[in-house]
Amino acid sequence: MRLIFLGPPGAGKGTQAQRVAANFGIPHISTGDILRQAVADRTPLGQQAKNYMDRGDLVPDDLILGLVRERLGADDATQGWILDGFPRNLHQAKFLDSLLTEIHQQCDRAVNFEVPDDEIVRRLLGRGRQDDSETTVRHRLDVYRAETAPVINFYRNQSGVVDIDGNRELDAVTQSLTAALGEE
Ligand code: AMP
Repeated sequence: MRLIFLGPPGAGKGTQAQRVAANFGIPHISTGDILRQAVADRTPLGQQAKNYMDRGDLVPDDLILGLVRERLGADDATQGWILDGFPRNLHQAKFLDSLLTEIHQQCDRAVNFEVPDDEIVRRLLGRGRQDDSETTVRHRLDVYRAETAPVINFYRNQSGVVDIDGNRELDAVTQSLTAALGEE
């Protein structure tokens, strides 16, 4: 199973991705997690990415694309994966498209988690991550609308998108997600 999880920050993608990944025995690949680890480890990647992340801006594509290529080429990713937080703009989506062709893989489904803006702001402000201040949260939502939302249409025209109402209890969301994926 190869899945792409889309949706605004705070939509619950990460939590749901962890659950589904454990279920299918495939890796959960979160570019945000990889970047936060790089920042914590003070690697060159982390040092270059940190300011963008603190502001709520996207990290430049040239820092992201190589790491995704490397991660999808790892041994544990040959049988499937869930991408969470990537692709974040159309350029990344097109890159992924040609990368998958190159490595003879195909994305099965893109999943779009829908949550209203005020609920997202409420959740993110309650989460208390370093990039979760009110100004940054609003900026991340703006960036999402401008850059990431168009990616949903890219997949609507391609592998197809499953829309999931993310504005519910975690377990209810997992249930409809599992049901939707089971209909493959
Ligand atoms: P996330 O945990 O997915 O919300 O990501 C946290 C931050 O990492 C984002 O606000 C971006 O600064 C950066 N980031 C994560 N994934 C990407 C990506 N695919 N492209 C660019 N920046 C990213």
